[in-house]
Amino acid sequence: MRANAQSRPRAERASRFRELASGTFDLLVIGGGITGAGIARDAAMRGLRTALVDKDDFASGTSSRSSRLIHGGIRYLERAELGLVRQSVRERETLLRIAPEIVKSQEFTWPVYAGARIPLWKLRTGLRIYDFLATGANAESHQTLSSDEIIEREPSLRRDGLRGGCVYHDARASDSRLTLANVRSAAAAGAVTLNHAEALRPLSRDRSEWLAIVCDPLSGEDVEVRARIVVNATGPWRLDLERRGHERGAPRRRGSRGAHITVPCERIGNREALTLLSPVDGRVMFVLPFGSHVLIGTTDTWTDESPDEVRASAEDIEYLLASANAFLPEAKLGPADIVGSWAGIRPLVAMTSNGLPSRVSREHAVTRTGPGVINVTGGKLTTYRVVAADVVDEVERDLGRKRKRAPTAEQELPGSERADALRSLIQVEPDLAAPIMRGSAHMLAELRYAVEEEMAWTLSDLLMRRTGVAFERADAGRAAAEAIAPQVAEWLGWSDEVRKRRVESYMSDAARVFGVPQPR
Ligand SMILES: Cc1cc2nc3c(=O)[nH]c(=O)nc-3n(C[C@H](O)[C@H](O)[C@H](O)COP(=O)(O)OP(=O)(O)OC[C@H]3O[C@@H](n4cnc5c(N)ncnc54)[C@H](O)[C@@H]3O)c2cc1C
Repeated sequence: MRANAQSRPRAERASRFRELASGTFDLLVIGGGITGAGIARDAAMRGLRTALVDKDDFASGTSSRSSRLIHGGIRYLERAELGLVRQSVRERETLLRIAPEIVKSQEFTWPVYAGARIPLWKLRTGLRIYDFLATGANAESHQTLSSDEIIEREPSLRRDGLRGGCVYHDARASDSRLTLANVRSAAAAGAVTLNHAEALRPLSRDRSEWLAIVCDPLSGEDVEVRARIVVNATGPWRLDLERRGHERGAPRRRGSRGAHITVPCERIGNREALTLLSPVDGRVMFVLPFGSHVLIGTTDTWTDESPDEVRASAEDIEYLLASANAFLPEAKLGPADIVGSWAGIRPLVAMTSNGLPSRVSREHAVTRTGPGVINVTGGKLTTYRVVAADVVDEVERDLGRKRKRAPTAEQELPGSERADALRSLIQVEPDLAAPIMRGSAHMLAELRYAVEEEMAWTLSDLLMRRTGVAFERADAGRAAAEAIAPQVAEWLGWSDEVRKRRVESYMSDAARVFGVPQPR
């Protein structure tokens, strides 16, 4: 059993690398965030010969740094983006149906205070429209509550100035698990999917095909990939890829940094999710249940930072603490309460350079930078299926194929088999029921499953995206990385030298994503 566990994932990866180099793909998708993963799934289901590569891990970019909401986007109502809201509420219901283990319904309380930018009447009107746009989507309607009823639901909220509020429903998801589920579904439909596989520019044109060099940073090997169409789905890295090719007509980078912090549940004591208007700038923000913690976010600030280095700044943290404390005064949150902090860059479709980032549309754009090179920008986690279908329609047009429709809304995403699979692993090897380290709720079986079935190759893949340990612990999973390295080395056949390097790279990834651990 152990020998199989060591050799099978490595043999499968080697075979996928060989497959990348064989023949011509209809489509090469560069970037394995939710956008690229969704495109690869849709394309493979339409029968296109598809390859998907990510330079790091699937969902290692923005797609593991979101607020994890699958939502209609109540804040978009303010800008009268009714089409986007309607599309989003419908997608929310589709995802609740096709990914029941990953996407869960979530109740939100929105308290309204005297002088709020959105008074109660306006909120009620907005939520009526929200409910109306979800008509037929099987969603629950909102309720209006008095201030006493709001406090009864959420006793930790400030009473002073409370004028009442509303309760409404949206959904939440594990963003990296949703991405991975799409990658696995794409692979099941025939796509060749590889993480830790960087597309190096420039692409070159050979007759009617594109030639891309894809490099495996774990082994240092390169392969040449041939594809008739290339989709750049690298989100906030998009221009990095384009600039390497010196193509003209590339738009300016417009990214907006969004940061989150987590604090222990007991420091706030909220029961469900809260929607608040920051007293600092009036933006909509959320206080969300997050396991044994509470997630507070987010910010929205233009940035030119590299997406490889982005993390929460001191100003982001100050903003989030001040905003939460204004509504949860008993908590008196301070920097010492913070368990974790991180940030991501929203790949926005920017039309203007002088508006605030939160005023820029989250809708997506599909553009071209040469024959057969399609770029996709913008979008949200919630609407990835719609974005994917638009892109693959373009691909089919370029290929001269009759447009097909992929059954992405009908076929359930992988995920529900995981609990049974873990139980089976433990039946065969009872030691796998042990926690990954003392005091952790995660079992070794989760890591073993991730290595065998979920393309986890590094300690960061395991602790940041397959389990989420890094987001849950004040040391960002550093101690867990040390603790699991010997076992993972055995499963993946790492030498002592490789194991040491993998632990070192976890430490540098943790510093890159989460910054210096906060004092507790
Ligand atoms: C703070 C924040 C909160 C958000 N909250 C929500 C929310 O609650 N709900 C919601 O619906 N949306 C939300 N969003 C938006 C959503 O997260 C993003 O729209 C989405 O994750 C973008 O996915 P993507 O695949 O386009 O980009 P990414 O996830 O960044 O993926 C791009 C991928 O490209 C890879 N890559 C880059 N260069 C190369 C190369 N040369 N070769 C191969 N691979 C490469 C990267 O490694 C990366 O994995 C939020 C965004 C942020 C920042």
